[in-house]
Amino acid sequence: MLYIGNHTSSSKGYLAMGRQTLKNGGNTFAFFTRNPRGGKAKDLNPSDIQEFLALEADNNFGRLVAHAPYTMNCCAAKEDLRDFARETMADDLRRMEFTPGNYYNFHPGSHVGQGVETGTAKIAEILNQVLREDQTTTVLLETMAGKGSEVGRSFEELKSIIDQVEREEKLGICLDTCHVWDAGYDIVNNLDGVLAEFDRILGLDRLKAVHLNDSMNDLGSHKDRHEKIGMGKIGLEALVRVINHPALRNLPFILETPNDDEGWAKEIALLRSRYQ
Ligand code: FE
Ligand code: FE
Ligand code: ZN
Repeated sequence: MLYIGNHTSSSKGYLAMGRQTLKNGGNTFAFFTRNPRGGKAKDLNPSDIQEFLALEADNNFGRLVAHAPYTMNCCAAKEDLRDFARETMADDLRRMEFTPGNYYNFHPGSHVGQGVETGTAKIAEILNQVLREDQTTTVLLETMAGKGSEVGRSFEELKSIIDQVEREEKLGICLDTCHVWDAGYDIVNNLDGVLAEFDRILGLDRLKAVHLNDSMNDLGSHKDRHEKIGMGKIGLEALVRVINHPALRNLPFILETPNDDEGWAKEIALLRSRYQ
């Protein structure tokens, strides 16, 4: 079963996101848990959630892949920024339990000159403070392009974070095809090799979701500019191999391509037509 959808606007609530996803031909989606630039989250509406859960069940949705605000930096140098990150993640995880059993994806952070080792330690410190024994949400570390001082540009950096977290069973990885390509992993010519390396360092059982994006830039560019499916340097055929790969084919695939709903609907239809 192909689980695919796009990153959608959460401004009208869960039911609206579910309906728009169905219109686009999707059966999973991603959304920001709050304004991507940060700030207070809107109150959850219990009836909206109830109606959404019914729609989700009726239409056999795959797991949702919520996205933390990208301003949240768990390894910021300033303590007040780390306090904000901790409070945001704790609050998001509490809210995620109203739609149990889904994924919460976040960018590990930027070490802003403190070095990768300090960065991974600070990220793990916050995860150790917010992960709860009784949560049903799995927290996903996103593979990053390595722009600036981003932590998570290699499988080794992600592994180092996981190794420092006590409740590591609550953690997984979200692989972003644009980011790993920009980070230097050649998923075009050597997808098997990249996944073998992922398995050796992180274990493929950690891989829970895929952000399916083409890239505007070359392998190893460390840029992070997403492109529409088939219009970038990764190309349609390589992305078709990604959705069909035995290690990936049952994961939720989320499009974060520069599109509107019409564009996403076309991409979803195209990828469905190439899923074997
Ligand atoms: Fe992301
Ligand atoms: Fe992404
Ligand atoms: Zn990106």
